[in-house]
Amino acid sequence: MSDFPKKYYLETLGCPKNEVDSEALEAGLISAGFAGTDDVGSADLILVNSCGFVNDARVESIDTALSLHMNRKKGSLLVMCGCLPARYSMEGIFDEVDLFLPSGDHDKLVPYLAGIGWAKKSDADSPKRIKPTSPFGYLKLSDGCDNRCSYCAIPLIKGPFYSRSFEEILSEAEYLCNNSVKELVLIGQDTTMFGLDRSDRSELPRLIDRLGGINGLEWLRIMYAHPAHLTEDIIEALGTRDKLLKYIDLPLQHVNDVILRKMNRKIDKRGILDLISGLRAAIPDIVLRTTFIVGFPGETDGDFRELLDFCEEVQFDNLGLFKYSPEEGTPAFNLKDRVDANIAEERYLTLLDLQNKISKAKLDRRVGKSERVLIQEIGGNGIATGRAWFQAPEVDGITYVATLDAKPGDMIDVRIIRAGPYDLYSETLQEG
Ligand code: SF4
Repeated sequence: MSDFPKKYYLETLGCPKNEVDSEALEAGLISAGFAGTDDVGSADLILVNSCGFVNDARVESIDTALSLHMNRKKGSLLVMCGCLPARYSMEGIFDEVDLFLPSGDHDKLVPYLAGIGWAKKSDADSPKRIKPTSPFGYLKLSDGCDNRCSYCAIPLIKGPFYSRSFEEILSEAEYLCNNSVKELVLIGQDTTMFGLDRSDRSELPRLIDRLGGINGLEWLRIMYAHPAHLTEDIIEALGTRDKLLKYIDLPLQHVNDVILRKMNRKIDKRGILDLISGLRAAIPDIVLRTTFIVGFPGETDGDFRELLDFCEEVQFDNLGLFKYSPEEGTPAFNLKDRVDANIAEERYLTLLDLQNKISKAKLDRRVGKSERVLIQEIGGNGIATGRAWFQAPEVDGITYVATLDAKPGDMIDVRIIRAGPYDLYSETLQEG
């Protein structure tokens, strides 16, 4: 154990769940005596936490590992962890990488490093999170998924659904809020399934109440809710719990009944319409984020028109959009009537254009209003950036704030003075 501490360099790709997994990797390495570095050329241990969800993500993961390999120092160890090695066995076909650690085996990293004399054994109760550098933090409630949507490779990568324990989640939440995190963002493949693998009712409302009691927490946000599992008691909590934002991310993927059935989404158009009108009846100012896939096999012009009309009618606040990506091993991979790539691209741009207009019109209606903003960063020119309660991190727009004395983590009241298609511009409200 001569040149210690050993240094690690970590690159995280993919979704917020990977970001949380990377934190657990870092926390384990730090408690095993490693120190982080931003310079890959001086790192002893190089990790890429990969994504294997769709083809573009796989290409990015491989390209990233190759570029890290090009810049590594002699004697360093290059490890690919995360979803790509969980989906494909890559030993023997990717020699630049020294060790593959699928997402389910991350806890084998430190024992492996201890085995080669690079680390002291890390004790089991080492923290799973690293000291936060942002005023918001993701809280992973579960992993894996049993929904088996026909286009999705996640069940092939992450396996069956399992909820994390209350104790684990609450101790992470306390750790983050004790270290000045103000907003907790609840994530999982399907957050509305939380607890349903160990009880007959979702434990999400009970967890929300427990999290609501944590000092320092200001905002709680639900992402990745499944429309077929968004129950009355979760909606009731959304409408009544102070710290729980009146915001929900509700991926719908499509609205045409034939397509929904082929996607195995467990809900039809009638069900979706009833859910949304029920949500809006219970919580009139609810902010809705959703996700759609265009170009799914068999999608006709008429089906797409139906989706377009639905978005025109419902007016989502935020919308994520994907073109269907055929994924080997998924049931949809063998479906006939693939949609031509140019047609899929055209539909993608058409829906995006519509949503741009809807989003701009909605944000224009916020001009002149006062809103509470969580400051994330301070720009050089007295302009801070942050997010209002209706803007989720990393996926929705941001709010610029003309302020001279705010700092990251501050929650300040602002007046919205201008709206862009996605971002807002504001000034601090004068005291008194
Ligand atoms: S809910 Fe469907 S799309 Fe989401 S992770 Fe599960 S199988 Fe995939």
